[in-house]
Amino acid sequence: MITRQQVEQLLSFQNGQYLVTSCYLNLDRAKMPAQMVKIKVKDLLQAAQQQLAQKTGSHAQRESLRRDFADIEAYVLPEIVANRFKAVAIFSCAGEKFWQAYGLPRMVRNILIADHNPYIRPLTAILSEYHRYCVAVVDRAHAKFYEVYLGEILDHGGVDDEIPRRVREGGLGGRDERHIERRHGHAIQHHYRTVAEQLLRVFTGGRFDWLVLGGQREPLREFKDYLHPTLRRRWAGDFHADPTHVTVPEILQQTLAVEERVEWEHELKLAGELIQKAEAGQRAVKGLGATLTALDRGEAQTLLVEDGFEVPGYACFACHFASLEQQSCPHCGKPVEPCADVVDEAIELALQRNCQVEHLQGPTPLREGGRIGALLRYQTA
Ligand SMILES: [Zn+2]
Repeated sequence: MITRQQVEQLLSFQNGQYLVTSCYLNLDRAKMPAQMVKIKVKDLLQAAQQQLAQKTGSHAQRESLRRDFADIEAYVLPEIVANRFKAVAIFSCAGEKFWQAYGLPRMVRNILIADHNPYIRPLTAILSEYHRYCVAVVDRAHAKFYEVYLGEILDHGGVDDEIPRRVREGGLGGRDERHIERRHGHAIQHHYRTVAEQLLRVFTGGRFDWLVLGGQREPLREFKDYLHPTLRRRWAGDFHADPTHVTVPEILQQTLAVEERVEWEHELKLAGELIQKAEAGQRAVKGLGATLTALDRGEAQTLLVEDGFEVPGYACFACHFASLEQQSCPHCGKPVEPCADVVDEAIELALQRNCQVEHLQGPTPLREGGRIGALLRYQTA
C-alpha cells in the first residue's frame, strides 16, 4: 500500500553526488504473454542503462546507476509473473541507498531517466486521480476498519465489545426480562458510540477521502445515527455483507464497486460541466485541436480525456509542442515530426504545465465533443 509518508519522502528526496534513476514500466499482459513482456522489459532496461551511463560524470555515479538497474530488473521480472499491477514506478539511487517502488493500477508511458531529482510528475498525476477509501464493516458487537487505495486493502484494526445476551425465548418474564432487554440495548448503543469515535480517529488520522460502510441492513441503519457529521458528509455508499463471514478479498471487491460508481459519477459531472461551459464559451474547450492550443498556452487547468483515445499527428519533441497539422514549431521554428499519438503528448504537456489530468473510463457527454477537452484557468482572446 502506498502511504502518504512514502510519497512525501519521495517528494523531498534530495541527492548529492549520485543520480537518481526514475523508471516507469508497463507490465500489462493483456496483449502478450509474460515471457514476451520480460524480454521487452529487459531490452528496454539494457538500452536505457547504456544510454544513461554515457551521461554520468564519475565512476561512483556509473556504479550507482549500474546497481539501480540491477535492482530494478530484480524487482520487475517477478512482478511481471505475479501480474498484480498494470505498471510500476520505481525510484532508485543505490549510492544514497534510496529505493521506492509503486505498483500502479493504470498503464503509463515507459520512461527511464537518471537525473539529480526523481521524475515524479507521472506518478503524482496517477495518485491525484485515485482517492483513499476508509471502510468500516459493522455489526452490533464488532467493527473492522480497512483502507482501500489503488486497488489494495489494508487492515486498520477494529472494535470488539461484550454485549450481554438477550432474553431467551419463553424467558424470565416481567421486570427481570425488561431489565435485561434494556441492558442489551444500552450495550449496543455504547458499542456504536465507541465504533463511531474510533472510526472518526482512523478517518481523520489517515486523511481519507471517502467512507464506505459494510454490514447487515438493520445494524448499518442504526449505526449511521452515531456517525460524526464529518463522516456523514464523506459517506460514499454501503455494501451488504455478513460481518462474521465476509472475507477481506470480498470487502475489497465490494469497496472497489462503490469506488467505481463514485469516480464514474465524478467523471460524468466534470464532462457535463465542460461541455456546458465550452458551448457557452466560458473557460472550457473541447476537441483535440482546441485542447492542444489551450495546453500550449498554459491555460488548461483540468484535462479530460477518454481512456484509450489515440490520434496520430505531429510534435516538436524538444519543445513538447503537439499539433494535428504538419507545420513549424512556434517555439523553436523547426519543422514538427510525425508522432504516433498526440493525445499522449497532450497528457505529457498537461503534466509539465501542472494541469490536472482526468481519464474518463467510459462514454460521457464528451464523446460527442471530441473525446478530449479542458477546463481553463483563464482564456486569452
Ligand atoms: Zn520546438
